[in-house]
Amino acid sequence: MKISVVGTGYVGLVTGTCFAETGNYVTCIDIDKEKVESLRNGIVPIYEPGLDVLFQRNQREGRLKFTNDLAEGIKGSMVIFLALPTPPNEDGSADLNYVIDVAGQLGALISEYTIIVNKSTVPVGTTELVSDSVSEKTQAEFDVVSNPEFLREGVAVDDFMKPDRVVIGTSAKRAAAIMKELYSPLVRQGNPVLIMDERSAEMTKYAANSFLATKITFMNEIANLCEILGADVDMVRKGIGTDNRIGKRFLFAGIGYGGSCFPKDVQALAKTADEANYNFKILNAVMSVNEIQKIKLIQKIKAYFNQDLKGKTIAVWGLAFKPYTDDIREAPSLANIQELVNEGALIKAYDPEAAENVTKLSLPQVLVCEDEYETLRDADALLIVTEWPVFRTPEFGRMKSLMKNRLIFDGRNLYELDTMRKYGFNYISIGRKEIHD
Ligand code: NAD
Repeated sequence: MKISVVGTGYVGLVTGTCFAETGNYVTCIDIDKEKVESLRNGIVPIYEPGLDVLFQRNQREGRLKFTNDLAEGIKGSMVIFLALPTPPNEDGSADLNYVIDVAGQLGALISEYTIIVNKSTVPVGTTELVSDSVSEKTQAEFDVVSNPEFLREGVAVDDFMKPDRVVIGTSAKRAAAIMKELYSPLVRQGNPVLIMDERSAEMTKYAANSFLATKITFMNEIANLCEILGADVDMVRKGIGTDNRIGKRFLFAGIGYGGSCFPKDVQALAKTADEANYNFKILNAVMSVNEIQKIKLIQKIKAYFNQDLKGKTIAVWGLAFKPYTDDIREAPSLANIQELVNEGALIKAYDPEAAENVTKLSLPQVLVCEDEYETLRDADALLIVTEWPVFRTPEFGRMKSLMKNRLIFDGRNLYELDTMRKYGFNYISIGRKEIHD
């Protein structure tokens, strides 16, 4: 099949590349000229494990093309995916301008039956708005399908190639059949392709992300209570995770959720509820708990140094909002760094993939280092923000010799308390006993 993908970011590029891998001829369209130029030259502008190999193969074999020109990019495609940004407006609602604007442009361009598939995360009712924008500009037959994307950055290729489920929101039989055919190579093991109405599909995406954010936040509150009552949240996690009704995943306590999706999607669903005059109490609590949780360790760092961080050097391990990505959108690292800088601290930070993106921000009082040990030279404390595997078994002896103080604030509970005791670190983590030598 010949298909097009409008928007070539984390979702669009993975979508386009993976559909090329299953034998389709894909043209990806983006307004960012530099991005398209770099993609045409064989350079993948984001870090996503496994993407480069598929990208190179499909580009070499002529199944994956890139353009800035929408008209050229959709030529001959019956199916056009939208993978456009839906950032938060100031009031928390999703900004639909990118999606609606491109829908109008498509309306003016299509002349025969077309399926416009929305992969962006959009509020309930958007399929109808997209439909209206297209139909204002065309006499051609078309269907608009809601096909929310569930991939996770860091494992996006795997998630796309082996989805737990595919959700297709459409009441049009013809569109449903074509979408099923397109996805059939990805669900050969029998994972479901769920056909439902458009509104339910749109809601499914927000419900999934809000539920996951709630699960994380619930564990963070359990952790906070564990600290007060002298329990260990990691024990509690194992204790409840073995219950099949609860499940083992998404139970790790830490310094809050971040990234380009959870914060904005939870906010947008709460706003949708507001507009429908429904008080979604849990979501409002999730948002306010997460705001505090994100900078929870800052209070502890300040307390440790008697509220005076002026001139203190804090090493920060991890800048990406989670491991295996270079994405720093809404990353807890940035909120923490900002707080520390406001208190007069100097930051020496390292991340295996996101360092370059943070360097580009040119943050004052922040030095981005070449490796994790360089950050520790003469550091007054280490703050761990992202659970990259490389941070899990560091050379503790070397760390001790580099640091001014043997002091670790761990926002991801990477180390056993006994190990910290053995190496003589002062160690403060989330929902567990503090270790002081
Ligand atoms: P992104 O910012 O990485 O990519 C969006 C791309 O669209 C950019 O390359 C931008 O230049 C391009 N663009 C903007 N306006 C355009 C236009 N008029 N024409 C063509 N291209 C245009 O965004 P993303 O992370 O890929 O997210 C896209 C959507 O998918 C969002 O709604 C997001 O909520 C949703 N989503 C994201 C993820 C994720 O993990 N990133 C997962 C599931 C769903």
